[in-house]
Amino acid sequence: MTDSYGKPHEAPPNEKRISSLSPETAIHKMTCAHCQQDWIYLFRRMDTGERFHLCPECESVWLEGGDLRLDTDVYLSEFMSPADPGREWEVIEPADQ
Ligand SMILES: [Zn+2]
Repeated sequence: MTDSYGKPHEAPPNEKRISSLSPETAIHKMTCAHCQQDWIYLFRRMDTGERFHLCPECESVWLEGGDLRLDTDVYLSEFMSPADPGREWEVIEPADQ
């Protein structure tokens, strides 16, 4: 997950937050079915309390109970449909399993 170096315009605004994540908290240490670049983590929306699975690398989202083995067509920005686009990471936090 370090291959984004050299492309600063694509650097995610979430690197500080995901640096606090460790593989020990990943869901069954399951690799993202979409990008295979990171583990899938359980996150929670702070505004609604809704829990969902997220790949921090490509921001793919799976609803809780969904099949994590399948590629996804839902992304964090679509899932959140935020009032303030680009601030998705400010209203979610890692959730306890
Ligand atoms: Zn991914």
